[in-house]
Amino acid sequence: MNAFDQYLSHVKRVTELLKLSPEESKVFLEPDRIIEKKLRVMVEGVAVELPAYRVQFSNARGPYKGGIRFHPAADLDEVKALAAMMAVKCAVVGIPMGGGKGGVTFNPKSATPEEIKTISRAFVGAMHEHLGPDLDVPAPDVYTNAEVMGVMLDEYEKILGKSAPATFTGKPLSLGGIPGRDTATAMGGAFVLEAYLQEKKLTTKGLRVAVHGFGNAGATVATLLYERGFKIVGIADSKGSVMSQQGLNPEVFIAIKNNHQSIRDVYCKGAVCDEGKLQAEGVTLGESNDVLVMDTDVLIPAALDGVITKEVASQIKAKVVVELANGPTTAEGDLELERRGISVIPDVLANAGGVTVSYFEWIQGRTGKMLKRDEVNESLKEVMHTAWSDVSKIATEHGSPYRLSAFVLAAERILQAKRDRGFS
Ligand code: GLU
Repeated sequence: MNAFDQYLSHVKRVTELLKLSPEESKVFLEPDRIIEKKLRVMVEGVAVELPAYRVQFSNARGPYKGGIRFHPAADLDEVKALAAMMAVKCAVVGIPMGGGKGGVTFNPKSATPEEIKTISRAFVGAMHEHLGPDLDVPAPDVYTNAEVMGVMLDEYEKILGKSAPATFTGKPLSLGGIPGRDTATAMGGAFVLEAYLQEKKLTTKGLRVAVHGFGNAGATVATLLYERGFKIVGIADSKGSVMSQQGLNPEVFIAIKNNHQSIRDVYCKGAVCDEGKLQAEGVTLGESNDVLVMDTDVLIPAALDGVITKEVASQIKAKVVVELANGPTTAEGDLELERRGISVIPDVLANAGGVTVSYFEWIQGRTGKMLKRDEVNESLKEVMHTAWSDVSKIATEHGSPYRLSAFVLAAERILQAKRDRGFS
């Protein structure tokens, strides 16, 4: 199943549950527009043509909104699925934006910073007619960041001949970025988890958390939860995992990551590991995916898509999975978790903090009124708690899992917007 098929399997369940007509379900099946271009750029002195996409899925609720990823596996199916999910995500958190996504197929890890800038400018050169504050507002995604957004904004404004800061979000602070955008995805996930635990009357103190992925979202969520009294029992990056029931301090691992090393290098030099240190801290080292099935209360996939397959799902010990990555659970994995009674707080809710703060940045860009970090985080908390209670209400009403409930909420809101535009 490709990424778009996975998305369709969720839509199918919503269509059945809400008894949608073919006309109504069409809104969730077909994107408004697919823009496909070839970026002609020089990489390592060689002229190449990189496939580039922007999918504008739905603007029923507002301008298309969503990130641009630079990844060797980015293809049209994936970008289409992610664009559709952005429409769902924005509707779940109730912000007035639609869904879009972009991608360029190449490996940024083997490109120089200068080449990345050239590719960023080329993307805007090819797509600029389709972008704008009231049209389509990109943001960072996998392997893109504030720096890339800064360069893209510059190219866009050069073409336009005037300032247009609300065209991109996730920008550097010097270009109208917003404080707290870098931590927003993780913080949104922490707020939702907090709301879930409150509702279930579970105490957070000492609750065990395992985090798969130690990039910005994974490292930040581990830190935020550690500071709130959770016990971080496992973390993983692409090279391996570190697990301890005694608990880990994320700060130590962030420091080593900042030094361009792997988290396991806290204990090992190459193949030689400090057994005394491992034993003293009760640490077991493992493969990256070992963290997914370790003994923990909460599991947070925060890196790649498709890691929770049916097989992995059948071994998960956590009682709740918080999807900070986009699409970490396959459709089959999802059914297996449901069958086993493991709660899943789905990506379209759990990682919607990113786009929520992007929305605040968009407002800032349009009004010129600057927001402070505390105001941003307070407003984010309110949005995430409200979204949680809206999804949870539907789950209780229909007896549906949270992913289906979130899709139901989004479908109702998107269809309402369509009706209010005069469509029956
Ligand atoms: N790329 C992020 C996401 O998948 C953020 C999108 C945005 O801020 O527009 O939600």
